[in-house]
Amino acid sequence: MKKRIPSPGPTFAVLMLAPLLACVRTPVDDAAAAGVAAPIPSADAVSRGLDWLVRHQAPAGYWSASAFSERCGEGRCDGAGKEVHDPGATGLSLLALQVAGDARHADAVARGLAYLASVQDAETGCFGVPNSHATFLYDHGIATLAVAEAVARGDDAMCGPAQRGIDFIEACRNPYKAWRYAYPPDGNNDMSVTGWMVLALKTGQSAGLEVDPAAFEGAMLLTDEMTDEETWRTGYQRRGGFSSRDVGMEERWPEASTEAMTAVGMMARLLTGEDPDESAALKGGAARLRERLPDWDASNGTIDYSYWYYGTLAMSWIGGDGWDRWNGALAEAVETTQREDGCARGSWDPQFDPWGHAGGRVYATALLTLALAVRDEPGRWKIAG
Ligand SMILES: [Zn+2]
Repeated sequence: MKKRIPSPGPTFAVLMLAPLLACVRTPVDDAAAAGVAAPIPSADAVSRGLDWLVRHQAPAGYWSASAFSERCGEGRCDGAGKEVHDPGATGLSLLALQVAGDARHADAVARGLAYLASVQDAETGCFGVPNSHATFLYDHGIATLAVAEAVARGDDAMCGPAQRGIDFIEACRNPYKAWRYAYPPDGNNDMSVTGWMVLALKTGQSAGLEVDPAAFEGAMLLTDEMTDEETWRTGYQRRGGFSSRDVGMEERWPEASTEAMTAVGMMARLLTGEDPDESAALKGGAARLRERLPDWDASNGTIDYSYWYYGTLAMSWIGGDGWDRWNGALAEAVETTQREDGCARGSWDPQFDPWGHAGGRVYATALLTLALAVRDEPGRWKIAG
C-alpha cells in the first residue's frame, strides 16, 4: 500500500463561511488555492490516468465517450461508450484533472471548460440538449459539478455557466423531493441521479454560487425514504432495495453484489452535515461497505467503478479502521488492473464494469483516477456540510 499523506484539511470549508453571492465568487484563501496545484505523493497511478485522459482529449476540448480512439497513437484503445454521454465524459475528465492534476493540466482543463460552456443550452442552462436522451440529466449533473469545481478553484469566467447549470438542476427537481430523468420533472426520483445532483449543488454552494437549500431537504427526504432502518441499505428506487442495472446486465453484474446506492446515500448524508459519530445511518452504511470492499473479480459481478468512487468519498470522509480496510482493498483492486501497454497505458478497461457500455474507457479512467486521488488526499473532498 502506498503511503498516505496528512490531509490539508477541508479544502472548501473556508468558502462556506462566506456569504453566498450568485455569480460573485467568494475569495479563496491562499492555502486552499495552493492545495489545487500541490503535488500529490504516491501519484504514479493517478499521473498515468491523467496522462491517458489528456492524450485522448479531442482538439475541440471535449472527451468523447464513443470516439476517443480517434486520438489514439500506436495500438488503438478499445472500450467505446455512447456518444450521447460526451458532456458527462467531459465532466468526469475535467473533475479528475482539476482534483488530481496540477499546472501542467491547466490548458486541457481550460479547453474542456470552454467546450462545456459552448454546448450549454442558452434557454435552459442544460449542458447539452434537454431530453436529448433518456439519461441526459446524469450528463448535465456531472458537467455542472465539473464547472462548479472550476469556480471553487478560482475560475471566475465559469461563474455564469456554473450558476446556469445549477439553476437548471433546480428546475429539474421534483417539488419537495429529488431527481430522476425528466425535464420538466415528472414526479419520479432515484438515488443515483440524486447523488450526482447533491455533489454538484454542494460544490456550487462551496464556490459561493446561489443554491436553494430546499434542494438538499428534498434530496435527504428521498435518501431517508430509500434507506432501510434495519439493514441500513439504501435502495435505488425502493426502500432498502438494490442498485439498478440496465436490461440484460443483471446476470453478469447481479444487483445484490454492490452497495452503490448505500454509498451514494452516505455521501449525501455527509455532504449535508450528518455527523458520522452520531448518525445511525452512516454507521450502518459504513458497516455494509466494510462487508463489500472493492474486489476485482470479473467472475462474480463485484466490479463497480462508480460504487468504488462513491464508497471512497464516503469512507475516506469517515476515516478510521473502515477507511483503512477500504483503502487497502481499493489499491489492490485498481492499481493492479490499470493498463500498462500501448496507447491504453494509464487507463482502465470499461468492459468489466456494469456501466462501461455507456461511459466507455473515458468514464472508467476518470472515475478510478478520481478514486485514487481521493485515496491519496481524503481531506480534499470534505466540502463542509
Ligand atoms: Zn488510445
